[in-house]
Amino acid sequence: MIERIQQLQHDSLAALQTAASLKDLQAIRVQVLGKKGSLTDMMKGMRDLSAADRPVIGSLVNTFKDAFEQAYAQRQAHLDELEISSRLKRERIDVTLPGRKSLRGSLHPVSLVTDDIVDIFSRLGFSVEEGPEIEKDFYNFEALNIPKDHPARDMQDTFYINDDLVLRTHTSPVQIRTMLKQPPPIRIIAPGTVYRRDSDLTHSPMFHQIEGFLVDERVTFGDLKGILTHFLNEYFGAGLQVRFRPSFFPFTEPSAEVDIACVICGGSGCRVCGGTGWLEILGCGMIDPEVFAAVNYDATKYSGFAFGMGLERIAMLKYGVSDLRLFFENDIRFLKQFS
Ligand SMILES: [Zn+2]
Repeated sequence: MIERIQQLQHDSLAALQTAASLKDLQAIRVQVLGKKGSLTDMMKGMRDLSAADRPVIGSLVNTFKDAFEQAYAQRQAHLDELEISSRLKRERIDVTLPGRKSLRGSLHPVSLVTDDIVDIFSRLGFSVEEGPEIEKDFYNFEALNIPKDHPARDMQDTFYINDDLVLRTHTSPVQIRTMLKQPPPIRIIAPGTVYRRDSDLTHSPMFHQIEGFLVDERVTFGDLKGILTHFLNEYFGAGLQVRFRPSFFPFTEPSAEVDIACVICGGSGCRVCGGTGWLEILGCGMIDPEVFAAVNYDATKYSGFAFGMGLERIAMLKYGVSDLRLFFENDIRFLKQFS
């Protein structure tokens, strides 16, 4: 029996030494020490031994078990190490490889123009206000002194949703919504999308406007001229020539259109300015008392001005873009020039 135990010890230790994986190690343990293992099997013969032999065999078995556990632990540690180094090799990252560049988008030129204009007016104490693009007739026309039979409605080329709802034709309804919501003094700048039934080289059925208005006591046309001249000089460059021409809008009285010296030719005349040396840039005027009546403002106490401009037009002049459609075609070659 002693010999069989020693033989088994020799064989199982040798097997542990060459086990190729943790799984193999565990299998060997089951084969030798498990319930149906070889050693367990051998131990069943213990009861046939004499009282003198039993402790000898017992101590031999214990020595075997100790040696087995020690060899098992050693092999396990070795296999663990192998596993770690093979993973390190497998998962190694080559930091010398060049990285993959992720493409960065850029702001749309109309967004750039909007941000710049809002920024200038923010510094003058104006805050941004927005309104819905589907607008009630009352806010888009009626309250702005454009009643149903008013000839000015012909100028608008409106998209009607039904008798009472339109796609807003300008950002001016934001004036009405704001003034109905709060009393003067107010200084608001309102950028947004507007819609007209118009589509050709220089007109798009959807485009963008920015509207500004200020209401307070004793506001004069001089304040309007001062603020707009300041804005145009900030935006297009100091020393820019600006002129105000009398005009007509239903919601302002008096009204004016503002021209700047052509930013392309500097005033000498070119194709863009039609040889005049001037570019029409925005419309403005003193808010009509009829508009104040629609929002219950006291026109004897308050006065104010409003102005509006097309953002695509400003972007075309600012960046030298000659075709309006480029702004809406989303051609990446065009857009990435603004990053
Ligand atoms: Zn010009």
